[in-house]
Amino acid sequence: MQSNTDLRARRLTFFAMKLTPFEKVIRLLERWNSDELKRLQGWLSIRIEQLESLTEELDLPPVKSGREAVSVCQLNSIVYRLEKVRCGKENCGTCPHGPYWYGYQRNNGKVVSFYVGKELPPSLR
Ligand SMILES: [Zn+2]
Repeated sequence: MQSNTDLRARRLTFFAMKLTPFEKVIRLLERWNSDELKRLQGWLSIRIEQLESLTEELDLPPVKSGREAVSVCQLNSIVYRLEKVRCGKENCGTCPHGPYWYGYQRNNGKVVSFYVGKELPPSLR
């Protein structure tokens, strides 16, 4: 026969395991007073600003050498940039080429680019 304390401890552990990180934080914050919450609010707004400015920089890598950015637009997590491209061939009579659209997307924290074409997908026009 298990004691009430054992059962209670087990139930609490089980309950704690089921909580998401967000729920755990909320549970903690419910015990804070308004002064403590205001301090947190100040910290949060600075933190959010930091993270968002970082995202902006990472989402759009600098224009590659020999290219010229003409236009930029964004849909969800993908940034589309219209670029004129220099092929690098000697005596090329038609440089710069394009402009062509390229997509920039973050993949496992790394920014990867892909060729889109002369026109954007219909959903972006
Ligand atoms: Zn060329």
